[in-house]
Amino acid sequence: MKPKPLIAGNWKMYKTGPQASELASRLKSLVSDFTEVDIMIAPPFTALGVVAEILKGSPIDIGAQDIFWETEGPYTGEISAPMLKAAGCSYVIIGHSERRQYFGETNQSVNRKIKAAVGAGLVPVVCVGESESERESGQTFSVVQKQLEEGLKGFSAGDLRAVVIAYEPVWAIGTGRTATREQAQEVHSFMRNRIRAACGNSVANALRILYGGSVKPENIAGLMAMEDINGALVGGASLDAESFAAIIRNAIEGL
Ligand code: PEP
Repeated sequence: MKPKPLIAGNWKMYKTGPQASELASRLKSLVSDFTEVDIMIAPPFTALGVVAEILKGSPIDIGAQDIFWETEGPYTGEISAPMLKAAGCSYVIIGHSERRQYFGETNQSVNRKIKAAVGAGLVPVVCVGESESERESGQTFSVVQKQLEEGLKGFSAGDLRAVVIAYEPVWAIGTGRTATREQAQEVHSFMRNRIRAACGNSVANALRILYGGSVKPENIAGLMAMEDINGALVGGASLDAESFAAIIRNAIEGL
């Protein structure tokens, strides 16, 4: 049986507190009846509190866009797992390609962050994916394999039950160029088989692997129909309540 899908929205560095509360309220009114999939949105840190307040009692979960691995201390500008939990988060996105590209995130820092999240009972959404030149030079599988192996180093099979993976080819993020569903399926299947080899059937079959990269209402159903695609991580299209709700509705139709 396939795991329950997750449709997640990454708001990136968009929305002030008041704008975030308007978007969250609109979304709540549009998607509260959708129970076939799990739904998560990841507003910026500054809007977590206000969004959590609005979404209380709704089926929409909240995630953060990053985390620091220490619990507390003199780490100016950082946010810890207990802080995220207290702010209402149950998920955290880790290792997004924009963090790898602009903020020096490495597989090693990703690994420490995943440990902190899992240890605190937050579900990490771990992002992996190849760049355009890596794809063109035939390195897609070796790149995601390294990201997975180093990012998940030291985790037990049990820990992996609390992890979500997001395959986000860098060339498809924010570009309008979605991977074809066959391209995505091929990488998802490869990753699930790596996890199967390391942790066994039951962990691999229960693992949620999301696709991310220019997901829109028009392409989500086709992606969701693929064997190893268990949801989506949506950037741009999650910033508009109607389009994110349409993605969720069409995702359910594609199941
Ligand atoms: C993302 O930021 O994770 C993402 C997939 O962005 P977009 O949907 O805009 O390509």
